[in-house]
Amino acid sequence: MSLKVYIGGKLYDKADAKISVFDHGLLYGDGIFEGIRSYSGRVFRLESHIERLYDSARAIHLVIPMSRADMAQAVLDTLKVNSLIDAYIRLIVTRGAGSLGLDPRSTTDPQIIIITDSISLYPAELYEAGLKIVTAGTMRNHPSALNPRIKSLNYLNSILAKIEGTNAGCLEALMLNHKGEVAECTGDNIFVVRKGEVHTPSIDAGILEGITREAVIEIARDAGYKVVERTMDRHDIYTADECFLTGTAAEVIPVVELDGRPIGDGKPGKVTADLLKRFHKLIRGQA
Ligand code: PMP
Repeated sequence: MSLKVYIGGKLYDKADAKISVFDHGLLYGDGIFEGIRSYSGRVFRLESHIERLYDSARAIHLVIPMSRADMAQAVLDTLKVNSLIDAYIRLIVTRGAGSLGLDPRSTTDPQIIIITDSISLYPAELYEAGLKIVTAGTMRNHPSALNPRIKSLNYLNSILAKIEGTNAGCLEALMLNHKGEVAECTGDNIFVVRKGEVHTPSIDAGILEGITREAVIEIARDAGYKVVERTMDRHDIYTADECFLTGTAAEVIPVVELDGRPIGDGKPGKVTADLLKRFHKLIRGQA
């Protein structure tokens, strides 16, 4: 059976899933999206993803022509039709087709698209060995220009930093904000462990409020770790005992090197392993 893609209430075969070339999502990156996971048939924190999607929409003056409950149901229905149990879900809302000018008032039909796919994780051995990352020269979008809290269809900022990472032979790259502080990676939030405490940049560093980040903060606090959201610079990472990234696709993945400097003893840390274990327990037990 061919994969079915949801567009505006209808299901299309993958090859027929098409939208207008006049859609401002394509012309200008004018739209928003979510990346979601389902584990054993249950969608992880669907409500939080829907909430973030509607918040992104509000921030870009986009009225989603569908209720939150119907949106959540559409995600579940699309998964069901595709008989997917462990899946990656891409939920997209575009501004819709309009004239070639920027003005969104020319657009008429925001497209709601749901693509489901099997998951592509980092290779399993990287969870054992840990990632080596570098700092990108491309800084994270200034929050007053395009707030990183908006999960917009314009991901060029992250893509440019990602290219710097891959050019340096790394799968992820660290991005700093306009003040030179640690923000996040191109598609993941960042944490360090220092003297048994878990530290991560606060939201006002200009980062996406990751749903995995939030889950890991909760898990860590429940497990008795002190979690501190604070301003961080690269020195805090170079001198940390451990470092790890969080994201919907990555889950919790250790980082063992930044800019050629080994972090801690250069191997994935114990607290990271403990949090990854607890995260796996959470996703098995809860949708
Ligand atoms: N930061 C950025 C820039 C992202 O694109 C993502 C999602 N891929 C994350 C952080 C992690 O967020 P989440 O845990 O909600 O997937």
